[in-house]
Amino acid sequence: MAEKKMKRIMVTGSVGQIGSELVPELRRIYGGDNVIALGRKTAPTPEVRDGGPFHFVDVTDKAGLMELAKKYKTDTIFHLAAILSAVGESNPMAAWEVGINGLINVLEVARECGAKNIFFPSSIGAFGPTTPRDKTPQDTIQRPSTMYGITKVTGELLCDYYNKKYGMNCRGLRYPGLISYVTPPGGGTTDYAVAIFYEALKNKKFTCYLKPDTSLDMMYMPDALKAAVDLMETDAAKLKHFNAFNVSGMAFTPEILAEEIKKHVPEFKISYQVDPVRQGIADSWPRSMDDSVARKEWGWKPKFDLAAMAKDMFAQLKKKQKEGKL
Ligand code: NAD
Repeated sequence: MAEKKMKRIMVTGSVGQIGSELVPELRRIYGGDNVIALGRKTAPTPEVRDGGPFHFVDVTDKAGLMELAKKYKTDTIFHLAAILSAVGESNPMAAWEVGINGLINVLEVARECGAKNIFFPSSIGAFGPTTPRDKTPQDTIQRPSTMYGITKVTGELLCDYYNKKYGMNCRGLRYPGLISYVTPPGGGTTDYAVAIFYEALKNKKFTCYLKPDTSLDMMYMPDALKAAVDLMETDAAKLKHFNAFNVSGMAFTPEILAEEIKKHVPEFKISYQVDPVRQGIADSWPRSMDDSVARKEWGWKPKFDLAAMAKDMFAQLKKKQKEGKL
């Protein structure tokens, strides 16, 4: 087997929806002590806290980040800390502060201590109302209308800049809405697609804040974790883009998801109470992305479609319910 490119990995935002699952997966692959999880204020899951080093540090604190990067001789940073789309609209300056100043700190710390590998998750939020919404191409118009989107486009550009200017290895994906059962999502526009499963099991009904025919790209968390690791371990010679790859697992509307859920919970009923802020955001994002460039350059291929994702979500959530953890 080829030698791994990443050896000592720091993960910011490790208490969040992705980090809570990415950290244990990275520790499984690279060894517990080689994956340093960072959080801010919120308590981590026991796996993240106990499976290897864990520290609290704010990503706007460059000196704090530098100290840890040096202490652990970091060669890679997965930078997950962010303020997500819906929360960002209620506090745009906080979204800017974490999204831009946090990223600049991470890039500068990495540059100064020779940590060449950076993973930066962009988002479907990096697109906007003038982007082609169906089969959204890899390289296209990006004029987002949210502060979150502005931080993501800027982040994509900064990663390109650090690659070109300093010879760094910043790579990234444009994730769609992520569906998972370990840690709840952190205030994005696609959160309904997680909440609906919990409500279907607990109350057999769900009130959706998006209109029934709002199509958005989604992905199940195991595919999201695999995509990140696969991209980071791909030989540079294969890549033309490096950063901001479109990736999608499936695209569906609330009414299509509700039909899938009824296959598992036949009494399930969905109703709608549209939130104009989140509906407005969703209406400015792709209905479905073209991820053929990721497929071609580094072999991206999702394992989970809608049916497989829903089946696994219910199996996992029922297990949690039995253990009294729901
Ligand atoms: P999340 O909100 O669940 O977690 C983000 C974490 O960042 C939180 O634990 C929060 O405490 C932390 N954080 C916020 N401000 C911080 C600061 N100043 N210093 C240190 N930590 C801070 O988000 P997530 O869903 O895990 O997303 C991780 C990354 O992936 C983000 O960059 C997000 O934009 C991106 N992304 C997520 C999705 C999704 O559907 N979850 C989709 C596209 C892109």
